[in-house]
Amino acid sequence: MNDYLFPRPAGREKSRVRYGLPARNSAGDGFTCVYCHAYVSTHPILSGVENRNHCLFCLWSRHLDLYAAGDRLSACKALMQPVGLTVKATYKKYGPARGELMIIHACSECEKLSINRIAADDDPQTAFNVFEGSFHLETGLQIQLELSDIRVLKRSDHDAVRTSLFGQADRLVEAFFKSNVLEFD
Ligand SMILES: [Zn+2]
Ligand SMILES: [Zn+2]
Repeated sequence: MNDYLFPRPAGREKSRVRYGLPARNSAGDGFTCVYCHAYVSTHPILSGVENRNHCLFCLWSRHLDLYAAGDRLSACKALMQPVGLTVKATYKKYGPARGELMIIHACSECEKLSINRIAADDDPQTAFNVFEGSFHLETGLQIQLELSDIRVLKRSDHDAVRTSLFGQADRLVEAFFKSNVLEFD
């Protein structure tokens, strides 16, 4: 094999490459999930998102951002639980509005809520379990979501959520969710 055609990573980099981990100097490295302890690559090519902020296996996140996605300025750092799914509207000039399925995270310490894109390599079954778990949210959290104008997808959205998670690779579906589709800036 003509392996001298490829740059040879040295030292620790070599073993990272051998075990299929992205090299440290590539865009994005990775983190160990504080909740399930799995190693999660943040490489944009694998996740399809720029700022991977949750684990692809358990979907838990950490409260790291303060003002904007990826700023990592929050002092909280506590675990953020995936509590439900919602839909973000995307508009094209022509054709119907489309909805992108998003995960709602709630901080276990300060109760901050955030809405995050589902990454391409997120476990769809875990996301579906989060959806089903959201039928039984505690009242305090339900009120908080309402006050934040976040509409959690409901039982009546079951078929749409299934299709979106398991039926289409790009996770984009026509906006046929029965809940009102959220509008973000
Ligand atoms: Zn995890
Ligand atoms: Zn927090």
